[in-house]
Amino acid sequence: MTNAELSRRDLSVLWHPCTQMKDHETLPVIPIRSGKGAWLEDFEGNRYLDAISSWWVNLFGHANPRINAALKDQLESLEHVLLAGFTHEPVIELSERLVEITPPGLDRCFYADNGSSAVEIALKMSFHAWLNQGKSGKTKFVTLENSYHGETLGALAVGNVELYRKTYKPLLLETITAPSPDCYLRETGESWRAYSLRQFEKMDTILRQQAGEICAVIIEPLVQCAGNMRMYHPVYLERLRNACNRYGIHLIADEIAVGFGRTGTLFASEQAGITPDFLCLSKGLTGGYLPLSVVVTRNKIYEQFYDDYENLTAFLHSHSYTGNPLGCRAALATLDIFNDDDVIGNNATLAKAMQETTAELVDHPHVAEVRQTGMILAIEMVKDKASREPWDWKERRGLHVYRHALQNGVLLRPLGNVIYFMPPYVVTPDEIALMARVARDGIDAAARG
Ligand SMILES: *Cc1c(COP(=O)(O)O)cnc(C)c1O
Repeated sequence: MTNAELSRRDLSVLWHPCTQMKDHETLPVIPIRSGKGAWLEDFEGNRYLDAISSWWVNLFGHANPRINAALKDQLESLEHVLLAGFTHEPVIELSERLVEITPPGLDRCFYADNGSSAVEIALKMSFHAWLNQGKSGKTKFVTLENSYHGETLGALAVGNVELYRKTYKPLLLETITAPSPDCYLRETGESWRAYSLRQFEKMDTILRQQAGEICAVIIEPLVQCAGNMRMYHPVYLERLRNACNRYGIHLIADEIAVGFGRTGTLFASEQAGITPDFLCLSKGLTGGYLPLSVVVTRNKIYEQFYDDYENLTAFLHSHSYTGNPLGCRAALATLDIFNDDDVIGNNATLAKAMQETTAELVDHPHVAEVRQTGMILAIEMVKDKASREPWDWKERRGLHVYRHALQNGVLLRPLGNVIYFMPPYVVTPDEIALMARVARDGIDAAARG
């Protein structure tokens, strides 16, 4: 079996996500035969360092022996059972442990099987909790400019990345958009903190003026990942939490991408010392093994739904694979690794290596900014450094970097013109140096055109 044969078969029957399929007339799809640690291998023995954790899901490497063992064991006893009226040990233990490790005050777990569904659940729960208290006028959600919360219609409506959203606009819920605290846009010499505080004033005004019609604010804490890895200061979250308390508005933290250590702490919310009313988790939850997501919320919210059946206040939302035992078992094995190894401590060393190996790019004529939050590092590639004029999107310079990196054994998948690293935590300093070298050469190659 060759790459070319598999690619041919694939392209005659598949339709790939987030892809203009016509691109594949010239860009081959890469069939992967196996993975080990931070590496993927195709059918011709070419290896690729997975610098983006296979779309931000993988935490402890491909074919991780500890997660594999847990899954094999789970397979022998129970693959799946419905979660309505029934339960199982992995989902109970996972819920106990999530309540334990998430910010204090989060006490209830509601499961789904992907991130977008978790966002839908949080939105519906927030609206419904207010409704059950007789506050039927609260129907709107506040979202940030440049935010991303998934692709299903509800999640798309509260997102703000035009590329994904614009086409479907006539189908979407109406939302209230607040300016982003995105610190790339700060004035020269202004600190992240000062800019985030300045941007918060506009959010505060919206919340103060429209509290009566607002259910919740939904945010990605610290890093707007799909929105080109734009970052902001934790003080914004701290102020937002206070404002939501003051005006009677829920706070939904979408930590689907940033949860499980990506920002340097287990959860990004910890850096602001806040507890959201709804915490959405997925992606790294199973170590990148299986689709599973969860919304962790407060007992106070749960109690708004708890009543005699005839009062019809229950949350009647379900997905067939809710709380799948294999997914839960992979998640438990993932949490065991966090427990047994000093993951957060070791990541601080890796994050430092990421910073050091990319330091030379700060002065690169086609780099406007190198920014980092924990284990996420992004390089903003531009046409002109001084004016920060971006490359024309039609030139697809990021795609150029993608091709260059693949030819040199690294899987980078730039977001537009932003090259970023979000590697699995089993990556080594040498592999980080390779990522940085290939990114630098890729930026040079893309600039030459
Ligand atoms: C990926 C992502 C989602 C959507 O998760 P899916 O599992 O892809 O549906 C939602 N929010 C954020 C912040 C994400 O990064």
